[in-house]
Amino acid sequence: MTRSEHIRALLEEYAAQRAADEADQARRVAEACAREPEIARLRAESTETAFGAMRSILSGATAEERTAAAQQMKQRGKAINARIRALLLRAGLPEDALALKYRCDKCRDTGYVGDAPARFCECFEARLVTRMHEDGTMAGVGEQNFERFDESLVPDDAQREQLLATRNMCENYANTFPDTPVRNLLLTGEGGLGKTFLLNCIFERVIARGFSAVRITAFRMFEAMRRQHIGNDPAFEGFSALIDVPLLLIDDLGAEPMMRNITVEYLFTLLNERMAAKKHTVVATNLTPVQLKEHYGERVASRLLDRSVCAAIMLKGKDLRRQ
Ligand SMILES: [Zn+2]
Repeated sequence: MTRSEHIRALLEEYAAQRAADEADQARRVAEACAREPEIARLRAESTETAFGAMRSILSGATAEERTAAAQQMKQRGKAINARIRALLLRAGLPEDALALKYRCDKCRDTGYVGDAPARFCECFEARLVTRMHEDGTMAGVGEQNFERFDESLVPDDAQREQLLATRNMCENYANTFPDTPVRNLLLTGEGGLGKTFLLNCIFERVIARGFSAVRITAFRMFEAMRRQHIGNDPAFEGFSALIDVPLLLIDDLGAEPMMRNITVEYLFTLLNERMAAKKHTVVATNLTPVQLKEHYGERVASRLLDRSVCAAIMLKGKDLRRQ
């Protein structure tokens, strides 16, 4: 998908979001009116007042008459709103129970801010970055989430217990993001122990909670870095997007080819910059801490394993894909 195709698809999502916002408001209005029928009458009166005032403003012969009509409309509108608020409170509802509520107040879920030339809202830019980095080759996209986690697939008791504890920790991390107990997670262990699944679960939950996150395989990430290094790839939003995203999840670190002047240097810069900016990073790797040090060197390993900001979890057991 090209950038403009992603933009088109995302604008459709925003239109659907606005429709959902309006449906939500209509539901809240219906509920309030059911509890306090007077509210329905007041809302009708408010509309009628506005139309009536508009008619007298338009028909006003002099500027004074028009100003007086506008003034009158304002005051009646105010009085009606005050009565509606009082009724809402009496019904045990919040004062703004009838208001349209947006996921993003800055752009009111349009995706745009500012007058012509309008530009994309930061919420839109963040979701665009997430979309563009979505790796279509990753397994289980949209299917691997905490709800689908099934520990009964693990026959061994000790392994199941450890996986459950890790699952709970990951779910807590995703639920509390960005105020997580520890900023970074490192999931290590051999293939087939559930690391990718857990990484995908965290991603799905954090995205569902409305935050921006990028999930990427190390292989694809370094391929993008290589392209960035040798020239320019218009489809790739750039290294800076990986540095800026609030949550970056890197899967299968260590499976990528080692490229001179690229792999270690870019990885170090990425981790270092994210650390300095206090951004969250989750890494899954088949390499042990010792192997990470051998593979990427001391500087990278110290950032991956920094205990002051990172919880390292070592999964153990049998390959669950070979049951
Ligand atoms: Zn916005």
